[in-house]
Amino acid sequence: MAQEYDLVILGGGTGGYVAAIRASQLGLKTALVEKGKLGGTCLHNGCIPSKALLRSAEVYATAKRSDEYGVMTSDVTVDFGKVQERKGKIVETLHKGVQHLMKQGKIDVYEGLGRILGPSIFSPMPGTISVEMNNGEENEMLIPKNVIVATGSRPRTLPGLEIGGNVMTSDEALKLEEIPSSIIIVGGGVIGIEWASMLSDFGAEVTVIEYADRIIPTEDKEISKEMQRLMKKKGVKIVTNAKVLPETLSQGDQVTISAEVKGEQKQFSAEKLLVSVGRQANTEGIGIENTDIQVEKGAILVNEYYQTKESHIYAIGDVIGGLQLAHVASHEGITAVEHIAGENPSPLDYRLIAKCIYSSPEAASVGYTEDEAKEKGYKVKTGKFSFRAIGKALVYGESDGFVKIIADEETNDLLGVHMIGPHVTDMISEAGLAMVLDATPWEVAHTIHPHPTLSEAIGEAALAVEGKAIHG
Ligand code: FAD
Repeated sequence: MAQEYDLVILGGGTGGYVAAIRASQLGLKTALVEKGKLGGTCLHNGCIPSKALLRSAEVYATAKRSDEYGVMTSDVTVDFGKVQERKGKIVETLHKGVQHLMKQGKIDVYEGLGRILGPSIFSPMPGTISVEMNNGEENEMLIPKNVIVATGSRPRTLPGLEIGGNVMTSDEALKLEEIPSSIIIVGGGVIGIEWASMLSDFGAEVTVIEYADRIIPTEDKEISKEMQRLMKKKGVKIVTNAKVLPETLSQGDQVTISAEVKGEQKQFSAEKLLVSVGRQANTEGIGIENTDIQVEKGAILVNEYYQTKESHIYAIGDVIGGLQLAHVASHEGITAVEHIAGENPSPLDYRLIAKCIYSSPEAASVGYTEDEAKEKGYKVKTGKFSFRAIGKALVYGESDGFVKIIADEETNDLLGVHMIGPHVTDMISEAGLAMVLDATPWEVAHTIHPHPTLSEAIGEAALAVEGKAIHG
């Protein structure tokens, strides 16, 4: 049977389900089509399960050095089954929460594989959605005025590096039943470093092989350098300027692979190999060929309101490439829905979106790196403040890292804020707000930061821009 809607959303991940809630708030009759589980990658294969594992690893690592805090423990061990069980419970609680929100918003959820059809008896325009229902019932036909494609992404692999056996992506790694004794991680980006940190804290021998000349290469150089130092400090081996040679992969008791490192071929062996070389947009099998939607470099092409070449079909989240982050997907979804509803939303300013790495230590940033600011022609001044001089960091027993602020020498505008250290992913939003409000370092410094808090490092780094840090 055919059902009419104001909006049909294809994909119930962070982008899609948040868009559905906003649409319901704005009074749009909305349907959400999801072939897997509501919550998508972030909830089931990404942000949440990985952070649950990271937290267990952090607790274990802290417990092992609890004597530093005067707390004597003995025989601290990991029950990885329980670690996974805890992760599963968190995911399920949040999954139920999303299901409840769909009911509360009176959003019709279709569990099945959605596909965009071309012009048909239902509509002269492309955009009718046919849903192959998971329960085997007859296909549903949804006739929407507008569509949002939010089909997300999947792990990218290297040509020739087949997934299977002991070679995995983050999808398989999240389901590990035991902590591997050793692992090679191909790719030292955000996901690679989070896994390196977690598995190393759990006791695995970790080797990261990175193509670029530094790990987390899109972050400020000083943050990369400090992360590399701190990863090495916890025992992670890092090999940079290394091109993995997929054809050399062999699997037996151990996975073995070679890489070309600075012109020399080197061999690496471990129990497991994790490929973390980015994510690929899910543009296939969704009926794009039935429309004028354009795909460029593997991602759907959209304008600032997320309209595709078919102006009533929008696309948001990982499927459009760019910053593939959950909070980006959800805000793109909100913007698209508000545009559909004629609310005249402001386009997102991607420069002001915070990026976080949940390794131990954490890293977080907003705005330009120092190199980017210079490339854009700014005359920059910087202020940096170490957590070593922050009382709360010493109290926590986590005083590695720093806050770095980059400002424009001429206008005094904040250009970027970069942090590495304890709980910085929870502190970056202050910097984000300061940048949204066009604050100057002086204004940040004169926002009195309570003592003792980790956030004092932000105030001190802001003072350091003018060489006036109190404790530095
Ligand atoms: P997705 O969450 O991928 O959702 C797409 C949904 O569409 C899926 O549920 C899929 O089943 C469904 N779908 C696809 N095709 C169809 C179809 N034809 N019909 C019906 N349904 C379909 N981001 C952060 O911000 N913070 C983090 O800490 C973080 N950690 C991560 C850790 C890992 C290991 C990974 C892999 C990712 C992480 N991310 C993180 C990225 C984040 O998960 C994604 O950016 C986010 O999930 C994108 O949301 P989305 O809605 O665009 O897509």
